[in-house]
Amino acid sequence: SLIARRTLRELPRSSRIRAQLRRMSNRGAGAEDTPLALKSDKPIILVLGSGWGAHSLIKVIDTDKFEVLCVSPRNHFIFTPMLPSSAVGTVEFRSLLEPIRIANPFVTYIEAECEVLDVKRKLALCSSTFAYENGRKPQFEVAYDAVVIAIGEQTATFGVPGVTEHCYFLKEISDAVGLRRRIGQCFELAALPGTPEEDRKRVLRFIVVGGGPTGVEFAGTLRDFVRGDLARKYPELMGDVEVVLLQSAQSILTQFSAGLQDRALETFRKTGVSVRTGVRVIAITQDQVVLEGGERLEYGVCVWSTGNAARPLVQSVAGAVPEQQEALQGRNPAAAKLAVDPFLRIAGVRDAIALGDCSRLTGAPLPATAQVAGQQGAYVARMINRGYRLGTGGLEKPFPARWKEKSAREEVEYFEKPFAFLSLGLMAYVGSDQAITQFEAGKASFSLAGYLSFLLWRSVYITKQVSTRNRILILFDWVKTRIFGRDLSIY
Ligand code: FAD
Repeated sequence: SLIARRTLRELPRSSRIRAQLRRMSNRGAGAEDTPLALKSDKPIILVLGSGWGAHSLIKVIDTDKFEVLCVSPRNHFIFTPMLPSSAVGTVEFRSLLEPIRIANPFVTYIEAECEVLDVKRKLALCSSTFAYENGRKPQFEVAYDAVVIAIGEQTATFGVPGVTEHCYFLKEISDAVGLRRRIGQCFELAALPGTPEEDRKRVLRFIVVGGGPTGVEFAGTLRDFVRGDLARKYPELMGDVEVVLLQSAQSILTQFSAGLQDRALETFRKTGVSVRTGVRVIAITQDQVVLEGGERLEYGVCVWSTGNAARPLVQSVAGAVPEQQEALQGRNPAAAKLAVDPFLRIAGVRDAIALGDCSRLTGAPLPATAQVAGQQGAYVARMINRGYRLGTGGLEKPFPARWKEKSAREEVEYFEKPFAFLSLGLMAYVGSDQAITQFEAGKASFSLAGYLSFLLWRSVYITKQVSTRNRILILFDWVKTRIFGRDLSIY
């Protein structure tokens, strides 16, 4: 048999070695197992994901007490709020990343995707991101004591035909790399001698679908790129460039106050971003965006940023647990999130925690933001470090508000508090060194717009970087862009 299969199996509890990554070599079934890694007698915590939630957990968790195994198809954390800036070259891609192996060298990382989670047997079936030459992807199983699901969500396409094939998303670094390359190609194509006028206008029309913070920030930064660097290099094309933002709701940035929405619209009017609200996209073809009512807009680049949908793993876990079905209350499975209690434990599942975008706090849902995911990751790590007794959790038993653990040296008293989100406000960059900011303190809300808000936006993002290395890289990128402009090379 050519099937290669890796198995991480729990050995008998009595054994000092609790788990081993084993490989049944592709010499066939029955061949001798080759232990590869992970020998431990500590409780195994399986962390699924390497985004905001998982990354902040990994930074805080105590690896002296726990064997932490991180499985994610992405071997790095991405500072997502800066993806739009990296897609136009204001900052470089690598400045936004931190490899998981650097984030915490004592965490075992495996580049793979969890496909099936057997929550009863506490086993995760995972498959590698890489395939052998015969196209098969190595698979392995992980036996865990507790699992943390932090796999986020995927881009929602709402079943609109052509979106997956023809649109760019803004979710991964590869999306930003592809988008940056395509923008450069469009300008070079338009600048080719003999390009007919209608083709020039088509390739220079950039359409952004979705008027949320990501769509707005991308439209704003793209307009900066065009008005700044591209205008200097391709002055003859400027009359043909169009940036269009399409939004199905009647306004953009609906999370912000009406006053701030107007400020964003005003900035777009001044900088030449055309905003069309109340329009629904019903199909995307290779070169046209089709609107409800039949109107067709030709485009060179179409960026799709209309919100999120559940990943298949979340749908399958939610589908298998009756308590999750109840929490879903007949909602579309594509909108499923894992219902969690105030301690972020998954309703109806033992020893399982969900956090970030893929989870939903029962009773008081929180916004799907990096702020929430990051705070939840750190909260869960602290809770585990302070003695959340693995193997005795689960909703069947109410979480003890107060419990004592006697160690040989000392008696430690723990007081566990439910997760409380501290909102640090909302921010969005709208282009032309202008941003909007909204803070909430209790019932009061304060807002700020303009250049001061842009300076605040930059200072918040620089302080929120996950390491000094990233902070320095981003600062250098900003200075470099100010002095030399953005890099226009296509690679
Ligand atoms: P993610 O960060 O999405 O991480 C999910 C992880 O799970 C990824 O590593 C993924 O590879 C991995 N994964 C997926 N499937 C599997 C699987 N089957 N098995 C194992 N691993 C898996 N929020 C803000 O607060 N402020 C902002 O300014 C802001 N700007 C944004 C800009 C953009 C362009 C985007 C895309 C998002 C922005 N957000 C912002 C939202 C924020 O990024 C998300 O809310 C946050 O990433 C959620 O964190 P998470 O850990 O739940 O999921």
